[in-house]
Amino acid sequence: MANYQLRVAHLYGNLLNTYGDNGNLLVLDYLAKKMDVEMTTTIVSLYEPFVADEYDLVFFGGGQDYEQKIVAHDLQSKKEALTSYIENDGVLLAICGGYQLLGHYYVTANDEKIMGIGALDHYTTRQENHRFIGDIKIVNETFNETYIGFENHNGRTFLGKGERPLGIVVDGHGNNGEDQTEGVIYRNVFGSYFHGPLLARNTNLAKRILNLALAKKYGSDFLIK
Ligand code: GLN
Repeated sequence: MANYQLRVAHLYGNLLNTYGDNGNLLVLDYLAKKMDVEMTTTIVSLYEPFVADEYDLVFFGGGQDYEQKIVAHDLQSKKEALTSYIENDGVLLAICGGYQLLGHYYVTANDEKIMGIGALDHYTTRQENHRFIGDIKIVNETFNETYIGFENHNGRTFLGKGERPLGIVVDGHGNNGEDQTEGVIYRNVFGSYFHGPLLARNTNLAKRILNLALAKKYGSDFLIK
């Protein structure tokens, strides 16, 4: 048994896992093991409550519009708990569809408006007969880090109040193909359109996320290098 524990909630892990998003959890688990940290992951899905103090880290993956619609409906029942988890500086990583649903709404490729939970202030519109697909490179100047990945989305996300981008686009499309932003950082929430998965190609970001969760639980002297 490891000396430290991280309890992870994988939101709708049985419905949202486009392009192997749950590889992000495998990367976190791999890094955590090396630090004597045991990660236990629980899928929190339809009709199940999200109990904020049972988790040290939350992961929310991406999906097709069909699954996203089902999830969006159920997510309203978790809105309050998730919002308070976020406002209490809970650590959360959301990819693509999950990232979209943390905002106000998402308009699907078929022009249907799906409500998010508005825990973050962004919103997502659509584009006509087109998707943003391809390799992407962004730079986070605050961390002085470059992240690389692969994006595939119809949605065009526009950031709102209190939201900073995860990075500025060097190559690729990012949030909306317009303002050069990609992803989001809000408190201890990280959102991104990167699939493939994000953390496998950007272990510096994986360590950053792990450190935040561990520091919150065990104090900032417990840091992964
Ligand atoms: N369905 C959403 C979109 O196309 C999310 C896609 C995804 O999670 N890859 O924008």
